[in-house]
Amino acid sequence: MTSPITSQPILRPEEPQAQPLNKLTTAVLILLHLGAVAALFCFSWLNLGVAVFLYWMTIELGISLGYHRLHTHRSYRIPVALEYFFAICGALTLEGGPIFWVATHRLHHQRSDQEGDPHSPRDGAWWAHVGWILLGESKHNNTRMMSKYAPDLAKKSFYVWLNNYHWVPMVVLSVILIALGGLPLFFWGVCLRIVVGLHSTWLVNSATHMWGKRRFSTRDDSRNNWWVALLTFGEGWHNNHHAHPTSARHGLAWYEFDPSWLLIRTMRKLRIAKAVQIARLPEQEVEEKAVA
Ligand SMILES: [Zn+2]
Ligand SMILES: [Zn+2]
Repeated sequence: MTSPITSQPILRPEEPQAQPLNKLTTAVLILLHLGAVAALFCFSWLNLGVAVFLYWMTIELGISLGYHRLHTHRSYRIPVALEYFFAICGALTLEGGPIFWVATHRLHHQRSDQEGDPHSPRDGAWWAHVGWILLGESKHNNTRMMSKYAPDLAKKSFYVWLNNYHWVPMVVLSVILIALGGLPLFFWGVCLRIVVGLHSTWLVNSATHMWGKRRFSTRDDSRNNWWVALLTFGEGWHNNHHAHPTSARHGLAWYEFDPSWLLIRTMRKLRIAKAVQIARLPEQEVEEKAVA
C-alpha cells in the first residue's frame, strides 16, 4: 500500500472487495436477520414498545450522542459515568466496541471518499453499506491496532475492556429479555432492533454519501439526507457534519430536525453537558449579532 501511513496498520486494503468473507460476522448477521423476520410472527404492543425504547437508547444515546458526537468528535463534555453509560448503549448496537468505532470513524473523516476511507460509496454502494464489514479480517477485537487511532480512549481501561468484550452487554440484555418475555421479546428487543439499527447507521455511510443536498462544498461526497436523519436522530445531516465535524449540532437550519442536538441542548441547560461546540450558518451569526 503506497499511502502515507504505510508504516501503520491500515483498515482498508488496496482491493477491499477481493478479500475473503468474514465467516463469524456474516453468520451473526444472518442469524440476526432471521431473528428479525421471526419477530414479525410474534407481534405484541409490549414487544414493539420495548424494541422502540431500546432503539432510542442504543441509536440515539449510544451511537449519536455517544460513539459519534462524544467519543469520536468530543463535541461536548459530560460526567464520566454518563460517558461510560453511553458507551455501553453504543456496544448494545453490535456495531463494535468504542475504540473500534471511533478509530474507524476518525479514519473516515481523515480520508473521506479518498483512498483509505474504510467505507466510501466510490468503492460501491454495497461496499459502503455492509461489504466493508463482511469482507476481510475483523478488526473489532484488535484493540491494540485500533488504539493508534483512538489513543484518548485507549488510556482508559474501561474502554479497552468494553472494546475487547463489546458483545457482553448484548448477551446480558438477551438473557434478561428471554427471562422476562421469552423468545418473542428477544426477537424484538435484540434481533429486529439491532438489524434496524445497523441498517440505519450503515445508511449514514452509504446513502448520505450518495443522495441528498450539499449545503457545503466539502472535499468529500457527503450530503444532507432528511430521511436518514429521521432514522438516526439527526445523523443524516451529514454534509453539515463533514463541514463542521466537532459541532454537537448537526441540523443547522430550523427545518433540519436533529433530536440528538435537542437532547444535548437540554443536557446543557441542566448543566450536565459542558463545553458544547456549535456550528452556525452565516445568517444565524448575523441574526445573533443583531440581537446582541
Ligand atoms: Zn461521512
Ligand atoms: Zn463524524
